[in-house]
Amino acid sequence: MRNGHLSYWWQALGGFPPRRASLPGPLEADVCIVGGGYTGLWTAYYLAGLRPQARIVVLEAAFAGYGASGRNGGWVTSELPGSRAVYASGRGGAAGVRAMEAELRATVDEVGRVCEAESIDCDFRRGGRLAVATSPAQLARLRTGLARLREWGDGPDVYTFLSRDETLSRINVAGALGGLYAPASARVQPAALVTGLAAAVERRGVQIYEATPVTEILPVGSGEVAEVGAVARTAFGDVRARSVLRCTEGFTARLPGSRRALLPMNSSMVVTEPLPAAVWKQVGWDGYETLSDEARAYVYAQRTADGRIAIGGRGVPYRFGSAVDHLGVTQQSTADALGGVLRRMFPAARDARLEHAWCGVLGVPRDWCASVSYDPPSGLGWAGGYTGHGVAAANLAGRTLADLAAGAPSALTSLPWVGHRSRAWEPEPARWAGVHGLYAVYRLADRLEASALDDRGGQARVLLGEALGRLGDVVSGIPH
Ligand SMILES: Cc1cc2nc3c(=O)[nH]c(=O)nc-3n(C[C@H](O)[C@H](O)[C@H](O)COP(=O)(O)OP(=O)(O)OC[C@H]3O[C@@H](n4cnc5c(N)ncnc54)[C@H](O)[C@@H]3O)c2cc1C
Repeated sequence: MRNGHLSYWWQALGGFPPRRASLPGPLEADVCIVGGGYTGLWTAYYLAGLRPQARIVVLEAAFAGYGASGRNGGWVTSELPGSRAVYASGRGGAAGVRAMEAELRATVDEVGRVCEAESIDCDFRRGGRLAVATSPAQLARLRTGLARLREWGDGPDVYTFLSRDETLSRINVAGALGGLYAPASARVQPAALVTGLAAAVERRGVQIYEATPVTEILPVGSGEVAEVGAVARTAFGDVRARSVLRCTEGFTARLPGSRRALLPMNSSMVVTEPLPAAVWKQVGWDGYETLSDEARAYVYAQRTADGRIAIGGRGVPYRFGSAVDHLGVTQQSTADALGGVLRRMFPAARDARLEHAWCGVLGVPRDWCASVSYDPPSGLGWAGGYTGHGVAAANLAGRTLADLAAGAPSALTSLPWVGHRSRAWEPEPARWAGVHGLYAVYRLADRLEASALDDRGGQARVLLGEALGRLGDVVSGIPH
């Protein structure tokens, strides 16, 4: 099994793309975007559409798609990247949250629209999203969650409860007791999306400089920097621009001044070899739904266009001091655990070889609520912190950040995540201990719930598992 090399998705494309040039030297621009993942590239794409004459540059430390955007599970999901209650406490109230959720659902179609318009061949397929409960406790949680969604006004067109048989007729997940289906979700080949998007951005006249790490971002008028612009500092020289937009999600902690802004949360994936037709006949999955379970430490999966199952989960959640992985190499124990879950969920695929394992980091704010912000006086803007729901959210964030930086108020610029501020993460070692403690609690809660299926006395363990899970949610602030 290959491990690392960023992800299977790059291998499927025939390897990493040819490298673009680094920044040739000091430069002046209208807008400088730091980070060449979905957030930076969508921002550049829409900004170039709004301001075709503007000089827009993207500075990328490695290459476009090096980060989570080239390694993720390929779920283009309308999931809210944060807590309804937290966003509703802002100026837009509950109506603002509903508006944001409607925009996120429309964003799934917007991603598909641009893929078609720009001929981005990334296996975009709108199959909806299926969350499957595989224990009575998961089923109860799923029903409680659905009741809460209904209170918020989400009808059956947004979320539908599926019986056991309805669930199994979509995907034959062993032990499925029921499911929740949301039509507003698609699956993509993530590296193909980011590669095609980068090319589309260049066609709009944006210059992408690769192998160009930004070492510091300075606001307008700071110290030796005159009032003429904000600055992105690199070893090759400064880029001075009216606006500098930080789009570095899980890598943000490496920038001075932002070390405790976003926690780099780890997520790992494995992919099987292509499964034979006989196995697919047993598994079903003809609708290509994006799939998850209802565990606290949940897994997410997709059926790939080339007939494999790609499945991911948390693994080791966080590295001390906000360190990041080396080229996506994950722990063997994490790959083994994901393989175990895959075989439990799909006994028909029990003999399938795992071909590739990898990991990456996504950005998590302290209150688990993403934000998009732009501060005209300093010229600084940023977006991120999608807590694992960033594929669609980065498109909405990019459109919003483009409107903000262009000074073009829109329906998007008043959504509740605009200007939202999260408090800083705790310093180490509290940060490491807190995150590892949280996932130890979640895993124990999942084990208690699963073991309760086997014998009497199970009810007590279910209750204990539920209590532990809730305690984890409350202490961490994770929305459920
Ligand atoms: C394994 C995994 C699975 C996931 N699965 C899903 C999923 O199925 N669905 C979903 O919605 N979300 C998923 N996510 C999250 C999603 O992929 C991210 O939220 C999203 O890709 C973030 O995009 P981004 O552009 O903000 O960040 P990134 O894609 O991480 O891009 C940031 C870029 O900034 C560059 N950079 C960093 N620092 C600097 C610097 N100082 N100077 C210049 N450049 C810099 C990096 O090299 C990187 O290319 C997953 C994440 C991971 C890791």
